[in-house]
Amino acid sequence: MVRVRFAPSPTGYLHIGNARTALFNYLFARKNKGVFVLRIEDTDLDRSSDEFEKGILDDLRWLGLSWDEGPDIGGPYQPYRQIERLNLYREYATRLVSEGKAYQCWCTKEEIEERTKAKGYDNYCRNLTDEQIAKFKSEGRKPVLRFKVPEKDVVVNDIIRGIVRFESGSLNDFVIMKSNGVPTFHFAVVIDDFEMKITHVIRGEDHLSNTPKHILIFESFGQIPPQFAHMSMTLGPDRTRLSKRHGATSVRQYRENGFLSDAMFNYLALLGWSSKDNQEIFPREKLIQEFSIESCNKSNAIFDPAKLLWMNSQYMKIKPSSEIAKLSIPFLEKAGYEKSSIEKNMKTIERVIDLEKEKFKTLKDVPERISPFITEDITWNSGLSQKFKSPEATRILSDILVEIKEIEPFEKTVLEDMIRKFCEEKKVKTGEVFHLLRFALTGVTKGPGLFELMEILGKEVSIKRIEKFLVNKEY
Ligand code: GLU
Repeated sequence: MVRVRFAPSPTGYLHIGNARTALFNYLFARKNKGVFVLRIEDTDLDRSSDEFEKGILDDLRWLGLSWDEGPDIGGPYQPYRQIERLNLYREYATRLVSEGKAYQCWCTKEEIEERTKAKGYDNYCRNLTDEQIAKFKSEGRKPVLRFKVPEKDVVVNDIIRGIVRFESGSLNDFVIMKSNGVPTFHFAVVIDDFEMKITHVIRGEDHLSNTPKHILIFESFGQIPPQFAHMSMTLGPDRTRLSKRHGATSVRQYRENGFLSDAMFNYLALLGWSSKDNQEIFPREKLIQEFSIESCNKSNAIFDPAKLLWMNSQYMKIKPSSEIAKLSIPFLEKAGYEKSSIEKNMKTIERVIDLEKEKFKTLKDVPERISPFITEDITWNSGLSQKFKSPEATRILSDILVEIKEIEPFEKTVLEDMIRKFCEEKKVKTGEVFHLLRFALTGVTKGPGLFELMEILGKEVSIKRIEKFLVNKEY
């Protein structure tokens, strides 16, 4: 049974690169009907925070990357947290010491630096005498535990990278437990991986150089290491490591900028992986079916925000309007609309989205387009109004208003017939009249087709707005 894990450190919000790692693990688990485990690596007490942990969980849920197990405390699955497992690491560390595979090291940071500078770090505390140890103790020093690195080559047989050999002598004895009794990343990750029966470790290439250490720890416990797959890194369009310089780099920022979970899911999957036929728009289920770790690219993936935006606009078109409407609520609220007024206008919002969604790139585009339909008191953009308030325009509008008042039923085809006939009779250009009407009705010059727009607004509102426009001298 395939068991994989995503193991973020809660030292920031979910980064695009990490989200991709999570997604690849998730896809691999689902494809193989395996288990996806979430493990929070929070042993770096200074840099980890609850806020970031909560943020990461929230973003994973938003992306739809649900994990399959967690500590049994009832309710929805919590992640495993390393900080709750300290005793376990201590027990394993004690075992290594008693078997002579790890030892106490009493050196200060300064001493290690000095030794490293002088002739390279020399595993100084490996063979201390009892007197030396007693002296260190009497000085009040607190030891760390170091792993005794055996003399042997370590070979990583990586699913993506093939055979990678690390020669004997390339590693010094490394710390596995800090002096405060907290394990280092290398130790905790290995104990957890075998305790959790992880079969495949899928993570970023930046961890490849750590892998020989991990393999040695696995072996020191007589454990067979899992299979490793080190994914290429995610770079910005300028081919440097994706960072704040490239703009939004966290899933959260994209969420807040109105991106859809489906689009993000789809786009991240294509970072470093592609289908045989280079298809780009993949529903989730299809991605799960087609995904394979073996076909992941060795070369780094370039994160292209413009491509993500394009993909998002595609999903804005595919998604049912009712769903877009629901997802738009927070954006409408942010734009200043009251929850009650949004709820009251939900049907209208859906109708406008239906007409406009071809033009939407993100959910952030929705409020502006919806605005003329749910704002009670529209204002007319004074910069645009000059040409619409000539005596000629006022006369046309007054005349057409008379006819609009007569129209029954107030539907788009009927409206279109009537307005076109009006233009013909009065010998005025249809384009100009449409423009003028649209402006009087909405205060802006863009939006859905005029007749649909009028039908959605309804007769009463349409008449009221035109009347108000005619008497309004402010604009
Ligand atoms: N906590 C590590 C990180 O955030 C992941 C370690 C792993 O996947 O083995 O980079």
